[in-house]
Amino acid sequence: MDLASKIRHEAGRCVSCGLCLPHCPTYRQMRTENESPRGRIALMRAIAGGDLPVTARLESHLSLCLTCRSCENVCPANVRYGQLIDTARALIETRRPRPRVQGLLRRLLMDQLLARPRNLRLLARVLRFYQVSGLQRVARVTHLPSLLRLEQWEAQLPPLSRQVPWQQHYPAQAPRRGRVGLLTGCISGIVDHDTLTATIRVLTTIGFDVHVPSRQVCCGALHQHGGEPKKAAALMRRNIEAFGAAELDAIVSTASGCAATLAEYGVYLPDDAGARVFSAKAREVSDFLTGTDWPTTVHCAPLPIRVAVHDPCTLTNVLHANDEPYRLLQRIPALELRPLPENNLCCGAAGVYFLTHSQMAQDLRAPKLASLAQWAPDAVVTTNIGCALHLAQGIRTINPDIKIVHPVILIAKQLQVAGGS
Ligand code: SF4
Ligand code: SF4
Repeated sequence: MDLASKIRHEAGRCVSCGLCLPHCPTYRQMRTENESPRGRIALMRAIAGGDLPVTARLESHLSLCLTCRSCENVCPANVRYGQLIDTARALIETRRPRPRVQGLLRRLLMDQLLARPRNLRLLARVLRFYQVSGLQRVARVTHLPSLLRLEQWEAQLPPLSRQVPWQQHYPAQAPRRGRVGLLTGCISGIVDHDTLTATIRVLTTIGFDVHVPSRQVCCGALHQHGGEPKKAAALMRRNIEAFGAAELDAIVSTASGCAATLAEYGVYLPDDAGARVFSAKAREVSDFLTGTDWPTTVHCAPLPIRVAVHDPCTLTNVLHANDEPYRLLQRIPALELRPLPENNLCCGAAGVYFLTHSQMAQDLRAPKLASLAQWAPDAVVTTNIGCALHLAQGIRTINPDIKIVHPVILIAKQLQVAGGS
């Protein structure tokens, strides 16, 4: 089926009931039909049928969608909105050439960085040098990032740690109960070493061998949701080959956005039997850790702090595993857990959305920051690196004492092995 036929087929399931509207973050902000799921479906149907040309204005309504899939989660007609918007964006890519500079920048980001781990690691080293050499301080004092119109990107940059190569194999430190693969991820791999290290520590402590394939690449989410399904499929196939899922008990990701994509490889590559095997084994790390028995010798020490829990959309609407971080953290005695208010609504991070649609992203984040300012917890936990970066930038402006971490970091920190260290 071609792209237009796919859209017509899926959009045809929408009965225009409007039940999804109150669940859509952009509709709640804008209160216009064109920024609602139902309105967007009507626009996609019109583009696919050739009733509307693809103009910049029309494209803006579809690009303002966060792909949070709240609408899909509540739709009584089971419209697969996520697949629909991906297909519509792919169709737009074929019909509306981008301005030259924008196209070049996009090629640089998507083809030369995200799809090439070596280039990404090199960029990480350059950015770390920028941070630790004092260049960042000079640039900020002289307002260089805003002169280059890069202030939004520069402000999101977390302190980068030294890029230490991963071993391909980390052996179990307890009686062996299985073998898992670990996706390091494109962004997580360079900005979230601590979470990946904590994950390896917890998994090996409870008895899993951890396999980190050196030939793995980005999960493909940014290409898939950015209108480039063929390039996304190429990345997915490389991962399927690199991991060898048949030999593993699970393929674990620390970022729920990546885990959601891995879990849908079988949907994106319907004719690939290997993709179905791969998807069936894909798990977000909290979900994996709560679904497996731990040795009786392994415990967590008490930690009397107050923690707000953020539920990423991918964990709620795609993986349906949003209870798992709470269940995992309940292993730590004395921890006070509270859901972040409005957890059912996207925080605005949504892949690179917080960089490309910064105003909407900040508006969606604002109520969460207001409740954090009021409660002032010691930490916020989230299982998605994009959400962590976006929330952290806002949290720095209201209360820099609030830490933002992945739940597995708290677990690794409190881990105790009876008769061991
Ligand atoms: S809930 Fe489903 S069927 Fe109803 S308007 Fe939204 S997408 Fe269409
Ligand atoms: S994916 Fe999210 S932002 Fe997009 S239409 Fe659905 S609810 Fe709205």
